[in-house]
Formats: sequence, C-alpha cells, structure tokens
Amino acid sequence: MIVLGVEGTAHTMGVGIVKDTSKVLSDVRKTYQPPEGAGIHPRDASQFLGENMNAVVEEALGKAGISFKEVDLISFSQGPGLGPCLRTAATGARVLALKHKKPILGVNHCVAHIAVGKIMSGFKNPLVLYVSGANTQILELKEGRYRIFGETLDVGIGNMLDKFGRETGLKHPAGPKIEALARQGRNYIELPYTVKGTDLSFSGVLTNAVSKFKVGIPLEDICYSLQETSFAMLCEVTERALAHLNADEVILTGGVGNNSRLCEMLNLMAVEHDAKFSVPKGFCSDNGAMIAMLASLEYENGVRMKIEDTVVKPNQRTDDVEIFW
Ligand code: AMP
Ligand code: MG
Repeated sequence: MIVLGVEGTAHTMGVGIVKDTSKVLSDVRKTYQPPEGAGIHPRDASQFLGENMNAVVEEALGKAGISFKEVDLISFSQGPGLGPCLRTAATGARVLALKHKKPILGVNHCVAHIAVGKIMSGFKNPLVLYVSGANTQILELKEGRYRIFGETLDVGIGNMLDKFGRETGLKHPAGPKIEALARQGRNYIELPYTVKGTDLSFSGVLTNAVSKFKVGIPLEDICYSLQETSFAMLCEVTERALAHLNADEVILTGGVGNNSRLCEMLNLMAVEHDAKFSVPKGFCSDNGAMIAMLASLEYENGVRMKIEDTVVKPNQRTDDVEIFW
C-alpha cells in the first residue's frame, strides 16, 4: 500500500510518501521562518503552508517516481496543532482525496512522532520521550493507549529553547544554534532545575537563563548550561519512568531529538539500565512520512474516515487516541 502523508500542524509543510508502512519513497519539507525576534504567527504560518502545499506535493510525487494513480490513501495531521495551520493542511488533503477519488485518514501528530520511532527501531514496547516545540511527554503503551507518565507543566522544551533564542538574538528555530554554541561553552552556570515526580517545568530555567545573558555571562556558557540542566531534567524523569515500568527499550522522538548531546545523555542512562535506546534519525522533526506511516498502520487495522470525520482537532491529546497496531 502506498500512502501520502501531509504534515501541517505548525511550521512545516511536509509531504511524505510511504510504501508498505516503513519504506519512505520520498519526504519533502518546507519550513516557515518567522520574522527576526518573533515566534510562529498562526495566520502567517498557515498562509505559508497553503502557498507551498501544491509544490511540496508535486515534488514528493516526483521524488517517489509515482503519480496519484498509484497512491492508495491520503493522510494528514488532524491535531494537535495551531488551528489555522491544521485547517489549511486538512483542506488541502480533502481536496486531494476528493479530486483523485482516494480514501482519507486524519491522524494524531504526536502519535505519528511515536510511530516513526517505533517503526524505525523495531522495538516492541518502548518507553517514549517525546520532545518537540510545544510538547514534552514521557509515554508508554498500556491497554490500547499511549499513557502519559510525565509531561511539562508549562512550556514544551523546544519552545523554551526557541524563546531563549528570541531573547538572545538567535534565529528561529534556536535549538540547533544553541546546540552549536553549547559545544563552545566552558563553564557550567547553575540554573533552576525543576522536576516534580515525572513532570517537568521549564519556565524558571528560561527566565533565569535570559537574566544571566542580560548581566553579560557569555552566551556559549549559558547555552551549555541550559542544555546540561534541561536535558538532565529529561533524563531524570525518563529514568524514573523506566525504573517504575521496568522498560527495556527507550525511544527519543520529536524535533529536540535532533540534539546529539541529548541523545548521548539518554543513551548513557539507558545503558546503565541494560535498556536499548533508539532515535528515528532524520525523522525527528515534523515530516509527512511519519503521518503516512501512522495512517498505514491504522488503515491496515481497519480504521476508516468519511470526509465529515476529518474536522481538525487542535487540542487532541496523545492519550485520546486508541492504538490498534
Ligand atoms: P518539531 O515541531 O517536532 O519539528 O520540533 C521543533 C523543535 O525542535 C523546535 O523548538 C526546535 O528548536 C527544536 N530543535 C530542532 N533541532 C534541534 C536541536 N538540534 N537541538 C535542540 N532542539 C532542536
Ligand atoms: Mg511535531
């Protein structure tokens, strides 16, 4: 089965074409860049998605070397995400499905981040650390749903990094720039460390890191300290969940999963517990292939949607979704 997946929850218009659930035939992404000093504006981002969708679809088909005739299913990210962005991507997906007379399936964006991690690792029942812009969650599949064992109580770690970047003159998205600067950091500066059981909070570390910048502490040292502190928090809650659940596999997914220092720290933690560790390399950030992969799994397990079921769900939670696969 060949599935075309459209991702459009926030910053990225992504179209992925996937064959037999795991073979990526193509994966094309175009990412919105907010004006300097600003965050993602939902209306501007949705306009960007709309303007680029057609070209991204065409490029993905071209790279896969197929036409619409060979596509068996159109899928899209139904939620959670920014309302205007979700509506734009969903409208585009509906047009494709109706025009080419294909079935359509909307899937949960967060579960898609998990699905790509699970498929690419081959793990059976992993503990998942999902870290993106808006989301920071520790999850495991229990009785048909990804149950959330811990999550951020305020801002997601990616948004925390991006906000820090806005205050310190780093271009959006700041995560990769902070990673590069952190490598040049020499001195660890103490920052607030907030873990509450398996939940986390990042607003204190953000405010404090910005104030350190304002008093003239070198940006490299703050970036280094910000990563070490916030990633140690992530490792602590993941380790607590791992011990509690007796898990022996750990997956890291979501855009912040691109960070090699975070991978290194989590891998060290997992090894200490004789657990395996995996990251869906190249597919941590938002992309259409992960949407197509999850849609393949759901469709093959009997999930179907009518056009009237495709209304977007901006606040849909990961644990709202039943897992059939
Ligand atoms: P997503 O929405 O899943 O694509 O994740 C986007 C988030 O990932 C943004 O907040 C980025 O700053 C963050 N991000 C991307 N690459 C890195 C990196 N190398 N280190 C830390 N954060 C990153
Ligand atoms: Mg995402």
